[in-house]
Amino acid sequence: MINENYKKLSGAYLFSEIARKVKAYKAETPEAEIISLGIGDVTQPLCPAVVEALHKAADEMAVAATFRGYGPERGYDFLRNAIVQHDFQARGIDIEADEIFVSDGAKSDTGNFQELLGKDVRIAVTDPVYPVYVDSNVMAGREIVYLPCKAENGFAPELPTEHVDVIYLCYPNNPTGTTLNREQLETWVEYALKENALILYDAAYEAYIQSDDVPHSIYEITGAKECAVEFHSYSKTAGFTGIRCGYTVVPKTLHIELNAMWNRRQSTKFNGTSYLSQRAAEAIYTPEGKKQIRATIAYYMENARLMRDALMGMGFTVYGGVDAPYLWVKVSTGTTSWGFFDMLLHKANVVCTPGAGFGPSGEGYVRLTAFGTHENTEKALRRIDNKL
Ligand code: PLP
Repeated sequence: MINENYKKLSGAYLFSEIARKVKAYKAETPEAEIISLGIGDVTQPLCPAVVEALHKAADEMAVAATFRGYGPERGYDFLRNAIVQHDFQARGIDIEADEIFVSDGAKSDTGNFQELLGKDVRIAVTDPVYPVYVDSNVMAGREIVYLPCKAENGFAPELPTEHVDVIYLCYPNNPTGTTLNREQLETWVEYALKENALILYDAAYEAYIQSDDVPHSIYEITGAKECAVEFHSYSKTAGFTGIRCGYTVVPKTLHIELNAMWNRRQSTKFNGTSYLSQRAAEAIYTPEGKKQIRATIAYYMENARLMRDALMGMGFTVYGGVDAPYLWVKVSTGTTSWGFFDMLLHKANVVCTPGAGFGPSGEGYVRLTAFGTHENTEKALRRIDNKL
């Protein structure tokens, strides 16, 4: 017998489906030079401070006296202390090192965390949504409530009209590129405290926030330490999509005890993030590291600005791209998001991500990412302008 819940998953993981379509088009049209503004992978290399830390860590591994085998389950102290100091204390947030769990990235943790929940808990997700939250709960046989995020509500989910036990929130948002301001996030924390609900807050794009009234962490909101778990990733913050490192904050003050449970789960099923990755992550908190990753983020955000200006100039309605590396673009009336994907691929040789792949409310939109090079981004924009 197999887990029948897998049969309820949508056909293919969204990005596998896109890759399949692009491959088929390339086979038909080998001369086409395709530019991807689709999958959210970065293009800029690791910053020098990180590269130096990786070399140093590799050298340590080459000598018996400094060689490291299995590391501590929750991550090395040097990294957890740096996280506490720079990501939390510097913002006036009181988080302790034993509330931090270093991981190999936010995908595993956002996907795995639901293992701590009862089978019958009511899960709410925003729609459109990062597919991992939905699929991991479908695999576990849970029902999901969708909270539509549309232009009419400014892409901010309204509070559920029925009780839910768990809410996944991701801000800055993938895919819409929109944010929740302090007041909006306060509403969610109040709801969770009142309903005894748990917020699973994905802050993977926190480093892209430019606006002052957008919280970088849910723990900036009073009461969040009683009701929220927060996921972080170095993937987009510092180009770690290939290095792999992130962390999850599980406060000991949550209204249900999850810190010890998550520790039990991780120590059973996860054997730690590599020493090299953790040293690499530590390096982004040094003064040079901070400056260097900021410069790369500014590079991507300049792409976002160019894309917003150019697309709006062409008459598109564009959301996001101000505090996030994603733009959520309304497709022409009468076209579906997959229809627009096909048209963009065939006419302009540009790859986007169809909004419908992120949930029913994503229909009518496509997501474009600012993670390309300047050259490719500009070229893609010229082609969209000329060919569509
Ligand atoms: N959470 C969101 C919202 C993401 O968009 C992504 C990656 O695209 C992740 C988590 C996964 O990040 P990681 O590379 O750390 O696994």
